Amino acid sequence: MNYKVPFVHLPTMYHRMEKELNAAFKDVMSRGDLILRKDLSEFEHSMASLLGMKYTVGVGSGTDALFLALKAANVGTGDEVITVAYTCIATIAVITNCGAKPVLVDIGDDYNMNVDLVDKAITSKTKAIIPVHLNGRMCNMKRLMDIARKHKLIVIEDAAQAIEARFDEKKAGTFGLAGCFSLYPMKIFGATGDGGLVVTNDDKIAEKISQLRDLGQRRFPEEVLYFGFSSRLDNLQAALLNVKLKYLQEWITRRRELGARYHKGLFGVEELKLPPPPQTNSPYFDVFQNYVIRAKERDKLVSYLKDNGIETLTSWYLSKPLHKQKALNLAHFHLPNTEQFAKDSISLPLNSEVSDEQVDYVIKNIKNFYKVGENK
Ligand SMILES: *Cc1c(COP(=O)(O)O)cnc(C)c1O
Repeated sequence: MNYKVPFVHLPTMYHRMEKELNAAFKDVMSRGDLILRKDLSEFEHSMASLLGMKYTVGVGSGTDALFLALKAANVGTGDEVITVAYTCIATIAVITNCGAKPVLVDIGDDYNMNVDLVDKAITSKTKAIIPVHLNGRMCNMKRLMDIARKHKLIVIEDAAQAIEARFDEKKAGTFGLAGCFSLYPMKIFGATGDGGLVVTNDDKIAEKISQLRDLGQRRFPEEVLYFGFSSRLDNLQAALLNVKLKYLQEWITRRRELGARYHKGLFGVEELKLPPPPQTNSPYFDVFQNYVIRAKERDKLVSYLKDNGIETLTSWYLSKPLHKQKALNLAHFHLPNTEQFAKDSISLPLNSEVSDEQVDYVIKNIKNFYKVGENK
């Protein structure tokens, strides 16, 4: 279907940077530099300095970033890891794939882990917590880090949706032992395919992840140290990301502008619950990976918008909550907010390519649906 307002439109983004991306592609291909070459180390250095961290390691995906971080932290059989069900399945899958047991807590009104529930979920087996900074807004990391310190728990942040988001002036991914980012094409800062990044200040964790991603080997002096994985961020991807990195701040500014525009346009529609607008006097600096609202008659709204050429997202975490997916055997968790949010939340088109006019068109159609401004 040809949408008037598609949820994302990758070709538009490509065409804006076409010349530079093509030149980078040609340059890398002419050098034949495909695996663990200088473009990757340049990218890793740039990301480390952007985030103010000692190390970053480029890996195959956001999922692998989380998985390798858990592995490097020796999370495994017999351990419990606390996280949420209102997330991408990857967050939970990596825990299970390490041999550990996921313990799921409910979310609060900001779609993120309700930190008040964490204490109760801790047992003698708890080893780590994975907070997820969903939709570009950070989890309350001050409270969470206090709890983690008190119980001596490892924190691995799932910052896949939150590059450059901040809490108390500190960036997503920089609070815990490791921060994990996804470079999936639809993320704020996306590659031309799959990619991920782990950031850490810990020498040992950084070293171990860079070995685990490369078949468990140390290259100099050569030795196989672990049974490892093949999950290196491609050098070509890194070269293209080096081009895109120049635009990141611009994209984030734009996303915040659009977050403000949606807020202004939809404020006062009583059938909706909106996320907070970007604010300057708040501990939160949100980057609006998604603009997720809660809506009465959600499913009818989705089809009304679709009929009017507007593509919204209601897949994965927005439709059937993960703990209710039969095959995963997680149905014993009682997560009322997660279930309610899955029924009534909807993600509206917000990305660096969407125009003001398109956003206004979405706003107008939502208001039409609820007959705002007319007699009901
Ligand atoms: C996208 C995403 C992931 C997984 O990243 P991939 O790069 O797709 O493997 C993990 N967690 C969250 C919250 C995500 O949004």
